[in-house]
Amino acid sequence: MNAILLKSTIGLVVMMVAFTGYGQKSSNTKSPNIIVILTDDMGNNDVGFNGCQDIPTPNIDRIADEGVKFPQGYVTFAVCGPSRAGLITGRYQSRFGFDRTPVFAPSDPEMGLPKTEQTMAEMLKTAGYRTMLSGKWHVGAHAEVHHPNKRGFDEFFGFLAGGHRYFPQDWTFQSEYDAEGNEEHGYRTKLQRNGQVIENETEYLTDAFSREAVNFVKDNKDQPFFLYLAYNAPHTPLQATEKYLDRFKHIADEKRRIYAAMVSAVDDGVGRLLDQLDALGIAENTMVFFLSDNGGPKNANASDNGILRGGKSTWYEGGIRVPFAMRWPAKIKPNQVYYAPVISLDIFSTVAANLGRPVKVKNKLDGIDLVPVVTRPEKTAPDRTLFWRMYDRDLYVARNGNGAFKVLTKPNGNELYNLDDDVSEKNNLLKSGKNREAYDALVKELEAWKKEMAKEPAFLGLAELKEYWEIQRQKKQNNK
Ligand code: CA
Repeated sequence: MNAILLKSTIGLVVMMVAFTGYGQKSSNTKSPNIIVILTDDMGNNDVGFNGCQDIPTPNIDRIADEGVKFPQGYVTFAVCGPSRAGLITGRYQSRFGFDRTPVFAPSDPEMGLPKTEQTMAEMLKTAGYRTMLSGKWHVGAHAEVHHPNKRGFDEFFGFLAGGHRYFPQDWTFQSEYDAEGNEEHGYRTKLQRNGQVIENETEYLTDAFSREAVNFVKDNKDQPFFLYLAYNAPHTPLQATEKYLDRFKHIADEKRRIYAAMVSAVDDGVGRLLDQLDALGIAENTMVFFLSDNGGPKNANASDNGILRGGKSTWYEGGIRVPFAMRWPAKIKPNQVYYAPVISLDIFSTVAANLGRPVKVKNKLDGIDLVPVVTRPEKTAPDRTLFWRMYDRDLYVARNGNGAFKVLTKPNGNELYNLDDDVSEKNNLLKSGKNREAYDALVKELEAWKKEMAKEPAFLGLAELKEYWEIQRQKKQNNK
């Protein structure tokens, strides 16, 4: 365990980042602005900086080209909700039982981030930041305590559920709280601003999120701000406007064509945001992160995970390795590539360690500060191991942070891969009995990590709820 991790393991930590080293340029003496741009169900190969050929993403690529890209950028779960819970708390979500995706159900107050956790927005509020979420929340919709405005966001524009239709004429419901198990209901609720239903939205959803993000940056240019721009694109349903569809007439496959248009809308939004930072003269000292919440579900939205095996909902690389880049011109030189694994948990730790002002970090963090590791000339990987838990399938993964090996343990047989030689995970080394030492070491670490996690999930998932409803229905019938 390295020094950064040790530092972050002390319960309630007050991080004091020395101002020395910030005084070289006047623009560096101020605390950095923070922007996290998250896409939804985007394939690893669907950005230019990862080699995408058929969908130009010049604006998203600016983040990588003017900063650092992470070819091995991971998220903590292979579907939306738990991945977002890990990102926004900087902690493995299994520590607090967020092992399932929140769904529509009879009101379940446990179905959200528990108060024991601190969100990145709450952390940044302790440092005096202005905060906004524009987009999808998906880490609590059933109780007021889970609302973004109650979890550190001064401003919230968007929706609370797991997905959404893209055209305002489809938004017919007033509230997400009375959905009664119907996910489609959640996709059709009107957007809200700080709890107030919006009746007059006219823009394509992705454009609306971009507009609000740009306005927030403009309004808060004179003070440190945190913008969490969480697009639901390019998650299904596949819907785009002619403006974006017209760019992809050459793509024959209709699903891929609409998907490309949806990605292009995100790229336009990212461009508007980056241009705004330039126009305000604050780009230099604004940290911008870009990533997807999980890998692409090829069959659902025609996304492309390239040579990676599997996709969304699988624990092969295609499910958990995502497009991932960071830009912070004040500290990070352009055109950097950091080859060792990083994980979405590192964003919280990086932000907390680089504010240039005191901040209260409530819990033990699971990530590391990326700034020193990507700016070291030798770019050595920290000595750590990354872990995943899929409780409902009794599936666990451990991945060397500074080596090549990845272990999957599961009921139908364990697997070991050397990702340096075999990034497509075709050759299960356990079959040949090779690299047994690496396997044993990872399994041992995994067993220790499992003991730190919550015993079981904090709330029911869709499959468990269906079972629950069936039992309730039978009880009712028997009582008649
Ligand atoms: Ca997702």
